[in-house]
This record gives sequence, C-alpha cells and structure tokens, in this order.
Amino acid sequence: MKNNHNLLEIPNINSKDAKLKELIYDIDDSLFNKDNYSKEKCEHLCICSGGTTSSCAKNDFTTLDLRKNYSNIHLDKESNLVTIGGGVIMGDLINYLQKHNRSFPIGLSKLPGAGYILTGGVSPLSRAYGLAIDNIESIKGFLGNGTFIYLKKNKLNPEQQLIWEAIKGAGAFFSIITEIELKTFQSNPIKIIEGFVNLDELSEIVQLSEAFPENISLQWIYAQKIYIYVFAELKNNLEDKRTEESLMLLDKFPTLEKKIYENFNKINFFPKELKLYELNANNHSEVISLLGEDLKNDIPIFMKCLNEIMDNKPNNSCYVASQQLGCKTKKLNHGSSFFIHRKSTWKPWIYASWNKNDLQEKEIALDWIYKSWRNLKRFYPNIHLAQLHNHLNSHEEELTLAFGNRMNELKTLKNIFDPQGILPPL
Ligand SMILES: Cc1cc2nc3c(=O)[nH]c(=O)nc-3n(C[C@H](O)[C@H](O)[C@H](O)COP(=O)(O)OP(=O)(O)OC[C@H]3O[C@@H](n4cnc5c(N)ncnc54)[C@H](O)[C@@H]3O)c2cc1C
Repeated sequence: MKNNHNLLEIPNINSKDAKLKELIYDIDDSLFNKDNYSKEKCEHLCICSGGTTSSCAKNDFTTLDLRKNYSNIHLDKESNLVTIGGGVIMGDLINYLQKHNRSFPIGLSKLPGAGYILTGGVSPLSRAYGLAIDNIESIKGFLGNGTFIYLKKNKLNPEQQLIWEAIKGAGAFFSIITEIELKTFQSNPIKIIEGFVNLDELSEIVQLSEAFPENISLQWIYAQKIYIYVFAELKNNLEDKRTEESLMLLDKFPTLEKKIYENFNKINFFPKELKLYELNANNHSEVISLLGEDLKNDIPIFMKCLNEIMDNKPNNSCYVASQQLGCKTKKLNHGSSFFIHRKSTWKPWIYASWNKNDLQEKEIALDWIYKSWRNLKRFYPNIHLAQLHNHLNSHEEELTLAFGNRMNELKTLKNIFDPQGILPPL
C-alpha cells in the first residue's frame, strides 16, 4: 500500500479533515489482509465514492478512493443500459446521459457517488421510476474476503440471490462495488413550483401532495425558513390533465413560482438563499434519515411537532427536510432488496452541524438530532441507512430500524463474506 496523501479532497468536511493512515486507489490482495488493520481500534477499510458522508475517511484509518480508477461511464445505445464505475458521482452520470437524451433518478444533489445508488437512492423521480436500486441490472465488485463477484439480474443462482438482494441497500457492509449497470430513461422537461411558505401553507401543501400522481413529488426543507419544491416530470413534453389539475391547486399560494427546466440536470435544489451550512469548511455535521408513510389526518399534529423541533434547534445550521417517495417505490416487482420499508412515502432527514473545534457544540447538536428523531418516530418509525454511523451511539438502533427482520440475513452474509471485518462493521 502506498501512502500518497493524508487528506482527501471531498465534499464532506468531517471526512475531508480526517488524518488518514493511508489513501489507496487500487484493489489488490493486500486490501483483504487483516494484518493491515489494527485490532485495538476496531479499524476497518473506509470506501470513498462521492465522499459526501462522514464515514468515508477517519483518523488513522485507510481509505480506498474509487474516484480515480473507477470513474468510467458508458451507455450502450442499443439497450440504453449505462455502466458506471464505483467511484462515479451522480452529477457526472446525468451530464453524460443528457448528451444522449437519457436520464437516471438521481437524488436532490449531484454530489453523491455510488453510495447513493447502493443505499437505495430516493429521487424526485422515484415515484415514477422506482428507487435507484430498482434500476440496477448488474454489478461487479469484491466481497470482504477478496472474492470477485459479477451478478446479473435474472441470471442469479440461489447462492447469489441473497447477495444480490443485500447489495441493494446494505452492500457497504460486505462488498466493494467497482461497476454498476443501470437502466436509463428518456430525459423529459421538468416543471418546478417552488418558494418560501409558512407552516400553515406547508401543512396544506403536504396534504395536497399525498394525492399527487406518480410524476409529481414534493420536497420541503425547514431551515431558518420553510422552502418547498414541487417537482413534475412532463413526459413527452406534455402536461397531462391530472398533472395540470394537481398543479393548479398550488396557484393559491402567492409566494410560489413556476419554472420549466429543459431537463433534470438544469435544476439545483436548495439554492444559496436558503443559507444552508452543508459545505461550510469550518463545520462538521451529521444527518439521520427516516422513513414513514403518509401523514393523512396527522398533518396538524406533525406540523406542531416540527415547529417545536425547530424552536429548540441549538444553532442556525440545523434543519429538517423531507422528500416524497411512494407509487413505484412501493412495488416489489423489481425484486426483493434490503430497502425493506417499501410502504414508505416520506423520507425526512434531520441535519445539524457545529464548529468543528467545539466539542461541546457537537454534543449539543447531536443531542438535538437524537431528540428530534425521538419526536418524529411516531410519524416516521423507520430508518433509511443512507449514511453509515458506526462512529455514533445511534448506529445499532439505526441498523435495526433500517433492516428489521432481514438483519439476521445481513449478519450471516457479513460472517461469511467479510469474516475478518475488513469492511464497515454492523
Ligand atoms: C447534499 C446531499 C443530498 C442528498 N440527497 C439525497 C437524495 O435525494 N436521496 C437519497 O437517497 N440520498 C441522498 N443523499 C444521501 C446520499 O445519497 C448517501 O449519503 C450516500 O451514501 C452518499 O454516497 P457517496 O458515495 O457520496 O458517499 P461516500 O461518503 O463516498 O460513501 C458512503 C459510504 O458508502 C459506501 N460506499 C460508497 N461507494 C461504495 C462502493 N462503490 N462499494 C462499496 N461501498 C460503497 C462506503 O461504505 C462509504 O463509507 C444526499 C446526500 C447529500 C450530501
């Protein structure tokens, strides 16, 4: 293993600041040699794809950075399947696809890498096209014991079947994925209705959104103020009757503006006016993602709870946001996966950051995240494990609430395919 740098140039500041033991780019046998990791510190190998989480680099841990050698993107023009390396970021993927008038259901940011796909991948387009994992056709990579794997949908033997299902949602615990083949979709124009609203308006808009057709989704963020995006894909450039009727109901909100974007690539969610702290180099941060079903009659009581959470925020970086899934993500016709909470229609997340040198502020910010999570549990009882938190106290509970009755299968896979615990711990 070569020691190239001890810092990583990536979006997540916690990981960017980590003083690495080693930074490596290649997968060779030495990677799977337990002697390279220290037992006392429960050291394991960190994997970096988009580098947007706090777990892709840690003080005195080795990071495998996939961005350099696993960054290829190739579209097969006959099948319209795209093959990407395990270190490709979602912005590069959709920019590439746009040149061929194709698209993929990426999330609200272009920065995340393959971690977005492997952890499920909730997109504003998911109600129409499913989660990112629902669109995986094949994968290549290595298990934690060093074995190379190539798995193709509908061509799996019984032993491969469980690995395939677990890679879709929980692959990070026992595999390193170097290549993913994905379905793509025709790129269509997007109509966005967006703006600042107050809590009563948010309440009404959430109620409307729970009846939206599959091509429309709501995303909202409550930071210092509340901002919403209603995202509508206009298939074949047309606003069909149901879309028109659904969007017309938003005309009564005076602050909302309508814009049409040629395609998904042109949209930037959460612009500067929101004054978010996400990329502030002086701050470290954490985020917990939840899952739950439609609020229906609970909307008023949820809004009250949300308001209390925001009233108690310890600093201005803190926010709660939510994105809408449902429709196609509820269907299991893509095959089984370890994203088990298929009934979910909302994915809220709770974000907080703190001055990176202030441990007391860190404790207060994390405490706010945990308290807010406890209060939101009655509405959103489950977890979307989009970030690995094995460095936080919440890790075990998050695992249980993310994988539920598949946890034992995951533990078995971990024991068999990562017996030395080279990859992140369960
Ligand atoms: C601004 C922002 C917006 C987001 N919006 C959404 C959204 O709309 N929908 C949504 O679902 N999520 C969203 N996320 C969450 C994001 O998709 C997940 O946190 C994801 O895990 C990040 O992946 P990454 O590759 O960028 O992260 P990294 O920090 O590079 O990786 C995270 C972990 O994933 C594992 N991993 C990554 N790549 C591989 C691989 N090739 N093989 C094996 N393991 C791997 C590693 O264990 C790694 O520690 C958002 C995150 C951010 C920062």
